[in-house]
Amino acid sequence: MLVKNFYNILNKYFNFRKQEKWDNNGKQIIFKKEQVKNIYICLDLDEINVAEAINQNCNVIITHHPFFFAKKKQELKLEFKNNVYKELLKHKISVISLHTCFDKDKKFGINNYLAKKLNIEKGQTSYDNYSLLLRDANIKNIITESEKYNYLSNALIYNNNNIKNTESIFTQTILGSGACGYLVNKMKKNSLLLTGEIKWNELIVAKNKNITVINFGHNMEYAFIEASQIFLLEKFKSNEINEIFLDKFIFKGKPYSN
Ligand SMILES: [Zn+2]
Repeated sequence: MLVKNFYNILNKYFNFRKQEKWDNNGKQIIFKKEQVKNIYICLDLDEINVAEAINQNCNVIITHHPFFFAKKKQELKLEFKNNVYKELLKHKISVISLHTCFDKDKKFGINNYLAKKLNIEKGQTSYDNYSLLLRDANIKNIITESEKYNYLSNALIYNNNNIKNTESIFTQTILGSGACGYLVNKMKKNSLLLTGEIKWNELIVAKNKNITVINFGHNMEYAFIEASQIFLLEKFKSNEINEIFLDKFIFKGKPYSN
């Protein structure tokens, strides 16, 4: 399949025009007339990932966060991006980003995908642009399910009381992957926020509204890699795409010990 056709199919399904206006989904760099070889999926395109993509003979890279978020000229001032860009040109590697247009998808979007995985998907409705309002989410179940997938290994849990005593009935439970800490400003008192990033000033708002926060860390977006792989396997026939390789190089923190 031609890269051009592959790109058009992604655009048809996710509709790049549906992305947020501050975002830059879709083509980052495209070699239209090349045949799609292997495909590489990563959260962020960097020198480590581009080296692996080349190593695995991939000439199409799908990323979650756009490679060019700001203006191209600006982004290429970053040394690592400049090095990556040279490699893309040299090896004719196309890069397509699926960020907010992907996240809004009812089936594959990260929040819907995670809600299903954590078994908390009953009757959810959208809360903000991407975040979900979950019905009947029980924190004990969320913790048990999260532990199964090791999602809590980088998580920080903020609660005014002891979480273990929380048989809590929360007024509402919101799931917002990525940097959704800002949601505490409009959330109800005594509620629960599951997110990937929250700033200190937002935590103080949460503390004073008795909002419990589970901050999984931005790595929770690894779900994008899983979900987009499932999407490709479902939507394309096995003769249309070759092998798919996944980012194994997520930058993870560890609890400090000596
Ligand atoms: Zn993100």
